[in-house]
Amino acid sequence: MRYLVMLAVAASATAEDVDWSQTAEEAARTLQEYIRFDTTVPPGDVRATADFLEGILEAEGISVTRYVSAPGKVNLYARLEGSGDAKPILLLHHMDVVPADASRWDVDPFGGERKDGHIWGRGAMDMKGTGTLHLYAFLTLHRQKIPLNRDIVLMAVADEEVGGELGARFMIENHYDELDPEYVLDEGGFGSRDVYANDKLVFAISVAEKQIVWLKIRAEGVAGHGSQPSDQNPNDRLVRALGRLLDEPFPSSPSPVVESMRETLGALRENKFTNAIQNTTLSLTTLQSGVGDPVKINVIPSVAEATIDCRLVPGTDATEFLQEVKIRLGDPELLVEIAYQSEETVVTASDTDLYRALESAIIRHHPDAVVVPTLIPYGTDSNAFRHKGAKSYGIIPMELSAEIVASMHSDAERVPIAEIETAIRIFYEALVEVAGS
Ligand SMILES: [Zn+2]
Repeated sequence: MRYLVMLAVAASATAEDVDWSQTAEEAARTLQEYIRFDTTVPPGDVRATADFLEGILEAEGISVTRYVSAPGKVNLYARLEGSGDAKPILLLHHMDVVPADASRWDVDPFGGERKDGHIWGRGAMDMKGTGTLHLYAFLTLHRQKIPLNRDIVLMAVADEEVGGELGARFMIENHYDELDPEYVLDEGGFGSRDVYANDKLVFAISVAEKQIVWLKIRAEGVAGHGSQPSDQNPNDRLVRALGRLLDEPFPSSPSPVVESMRETLGALRENKFTNAIQNTTLSLTTLQSGVGDPVKINVIPSVAEATIDCRLVPGTDATEFLQEVKIRLGDPELLVEIAYQSEETVVTASDTDLYRALESAIIRHHPDAVVVPTLIPYGTDSNAFRHKGAKSYGIIPMELSAEIVASMHSDAERVPIAEIETAIRIFYEALVEVAGS
């Protein structure tokens, strides 16, 4: 206990001469500029953002190492050197963003505009926003000349939104010995009063993510004239089987991570996010069928296909899950194929120095907050690092409304400017606590 109190004092003492509001304003301007580079994947060309980040780091005298995994695909890192033997802490973010349909936005998705107290644009949250918070915690450690007992590495990668093959996975496969982190800080959880629980400010730090299984289901039949229905119509067979599959939710045993959330918070709030972290889920994402373009309404096609995005709670065996899917479909002639399956879930323990340091930094700045480990329903680069033995935590240390959280990947993505300062300070103080010597 005393140990923690002393560290807290040390963290605030070293931070005394930092002008935090100036740092936050600088970060806000950097984020606006960062959003203005269109790094939509595909094609996910991140050369310009890599140059941008490299320019900021080199202007501060920090050298940058770049690796090109394919044309346009740059991954870069910078390092603050520490003196001890402990393995590094890796601050990880991705530079690519998902597509934005400008016609659906009220602002230019690549304008980096400030409006109504927010910075708007694709990537504002996912993940240029968090990357910018990492960057300014990292730069502040450097500017304050904080002596470190281990290296802190800031890494920006390509292609996270398409699985990370040419980004984080490329770095893990080819340059892991240069990184070899004890800890990874990545995207994942966030702080909110109206996502996780009712009337409580909850900061959830993700320690695991659900396993992804993408299925393709194909019905084959006999083409014919729409005027004469037949039992060989693949559309009928597919639709009936999907009805049987999706009719009832999949039973899933609760994961220990979510159990411990419920112990701390009581019943979770009811919404699609908390449903997704508590249950194995299936989303019917595409249906394809028909002959001709435009499709002919009077032709029964010979093939109908569907895809289903399945996300398994930890502890669910993917093979058994697939068996259950086939039983529910109830039609052995359907072709069921796994289009993609992520590695099994690895859960990072939360009884670590970095978790506790994040928790105490969050509570210093949000005294009414409850900090819990959580599971996230979507995939990130963290899972690949967890399989290498790194302890990975996902957190945007901002207090966000459910509406803002839902803006991720949507046509109103934005972050509240007022949260930037505290979020940088939370990262900075946690890093000083764990890596300051
Ligand atoms: Zn992301």
